Amino acid sequence: MNDYATMLEAARAAVTKASAVCRQVQSALDQVRSITKDDKSPVTVADFASQAIVAHELSERLGEVVLVAEESSAFLREDEHSAHLEATLAAVREVWPEADEDSMLEAIDMGASDTHHLGFWTLDPIDGTKGFLRNQQYAVALAFVESGIPAVGVMGCPNLPRDLSEPLDVPDPEGCLYMAIRGEGVWEASANDPDETPIRITRLDHAEGDEICVCASVEKAHTDLGAVGKVLDLLRDKHGENVGEPVRLDSQCKYAVVARGQADAYLRLPTRPGYVERIWDHAAGSLIAAQSGAAVTDIFGHDLDFSCGRGLEKNKGVICAPPRLHGLLIGAIEELGIGAA
Ligand code: AMP
Ligand code: MG
Repeated sequence: MNDYATMLEAARAAVTKASAVCRQVQSALDQVRSITKDDKSPVTVADFASQAIVAHELSERLGEVVLVAEESSAFLREDEHSAHLEATLAAVREVWPEADEDSMLEAIDMGASDTHHLGFWTLDPIDGTKGFLRNQQYAVALAFVESGIPAVGVMGCPNLPRDLSEPLDVPDPEGCLYMAIRGEGVWEASANDPDETPIRITRLDHAEGDEICVCASVEKAHTDLGAVGKVLDLLRDKHGENVGEPVRLDSQCKYAVVARGQADAYLRLPTRPGYVERIWDHAAGSLIAAQSGAAVTDIFGHDLDFSCGRGLEKNKGVICAPPRLHGLLIGAIEELGIGAA
């Protein structure tokens, strides 16, 4: 029997440390770029550092863990990337002072486990890399998946303000962290302070007649914004719903923004037929939103199925919203024939 509370505590510690390192690298974007002579290097360095720290911290606290993560150490092991390796090690040592090259690379490769286990952790060390480089929203997303269903999820959102009246596109100095256990609820804490007592959130309060505020990706390649517009037009014109302007932000922070009632829905409509969503892009976020009371499915209304390896092979896109609105959205998508072969 897994002890979810202990797992959540370990995951929170790991994500808090990784978030601190991401924030540190982000505060020195130009310096890292100049060391590595590569424009995208800050996110590369922060990505590897975040994965190393999460893997190390989980194994310190829980013993050997099965981890399926986005990155492998192959890039850092190449001679021409020695500057990236050095910068990554410097970043890791901020929170793991005893790390050396070998222990760090080994920790990164702990993320190469496969998904053929009854239970495994899955990690996106930095979700929303474009947001990270724009100094906007990104997330460190970690979940434990059991028998194909996320059971524990922790998401660090280092630039996301906790105060709902603050704008979403301005980085917050403190950030926030969301945690969920299946069947138990969702909690919010500071992304900075691992000892703060988490607060249970119960802010999902969309009712009939309220303005519908949906959120979607910033990147046009990641969601079909034209189709999002058509769905909202249909809700407005045919169903008489009060539809507001969509809010755009990067990363799984979108799930958190729905979970805390700041947006009413997260729409991810496929831009191309063959794209398969990655499990680490949805495991933590979907659990957090679901535990706040949102329905989370693909665009056809099917549950997200995390039992098919590293991709959500059986699903297309994502719709996350409180149940009444979720039903309306799935109906509109069907009526418009979105995603139909
Ligand atoms: P977002 O923050 O919503 O822009 O989503 C970021 C995630 O989109 C990344 O972690 C990628 O794994 C994923 N992604 C990459 N290409 C696509 C695509 N064609 N469609 C949907 N998602 C994608
Ligand atoms: Mg991602």
